[in-house]
Amino acid sequence: MSQSAVTGRVAVVTGGIGGLGTEICRHLARQNRQVIAVDLAVRNERIAAFRDDVADLDGAVTFEAVDVSDFDSCQALASRIEQQHGRIDILVNAAGITRDASLRKMTPQHWHELMRVNLDGVFNMCRNVIEGMTSRGFGRIVNLSSVNGQTGQFGQTNYSAAKAGVHGFSMALARETARKGVTVNTVSPGYCDTPMVAAVSDEIRAGIIAEIPVGRLGSPADIARAVGFLGADDAGYITGINLPVNGGYFMSF
Ligand code: NAD
Repeated sequence: MSQSAVTGRVAVVTGGIGGLGTEICRHLARQNRQVIAVDLAVRNERIAAFRDDVADLDGAVTFEAVDVSDFDSCQALASRIEQQHGRIDILVNAAGITRDASLRKMTPQHWHELMRVNLDGVFNMCRNVIEGMTSRGFGRIVNLSSVNGQTGQFGQTNYSAAKAGVHGFSMALARETARKGVTVNTVSPGYCDTPMVAAVSDEIRAGIIAEIPVGRLGSPADIARAVGFLGADDAGYITGINLPVNGGYFMSF
């Protein structure tokens, strides 16, 4: 793809160098979007590995270090991108963390750290792009929730609450912006083949796969395609939905 071909929509992906975020960036770039991957100012090697991953996309994907739990940094980021690129058309909120513990053992720190990233981060980013989107009459927001926000998960009261909250937030914002050309939707991945899931033991992973009717973990590309679909210009009649991408996992209940 040549640099001149990258003249389409401007997309921001938080958690953009993560397991799902990287593939979402790649997918949006292949859809001819100029993509800004936003993530923590993590170790240089991780950012260098990400740059290698997207090197074949000829500059369609760039990186910005921001902590989404910090409102002022998100505000500065949004105005920096709008100055550089003219606008933000697509926002994908994929930054997320886990702080697992059964409620008996969960500390306020576990709870607040997670809420600050997984829920405040969605507010901080949406709040700082929404006026630009509504004033231009176009926007696509896709928020990453999780199957565990719909089913609950042992040891994840904090994560399940935040992820259920993400969809409530999306529906409310979808109503506020429906007549202004801005759609807001949620994608809820099931268990995917990413470092987040690789961290569990082989035994637990085998148990998870046994419960997925499709018989495998989701791939990052499965999720990226769903995000790309909802982020498309011609997806304007779909708003306020939750799109579960989980290999039929709900049918097991
Ligand atoms: P990941 O851990 O690989 O990536 C998450 C990214 O978010 C990381 O790159 C991390 O550095 C970044 N991040 C964390 N805190 C941040 C902050 N304060 N500011 C900016 N960036 C921050 O996880 P993933 O598997 O790519 O998951 C992406 C999203 O999808 C998350 O919201 C996750 O909860 C959700 N999800 C993942 C799965 C799965 O199976 N992997 C399943 C359901 C939902």
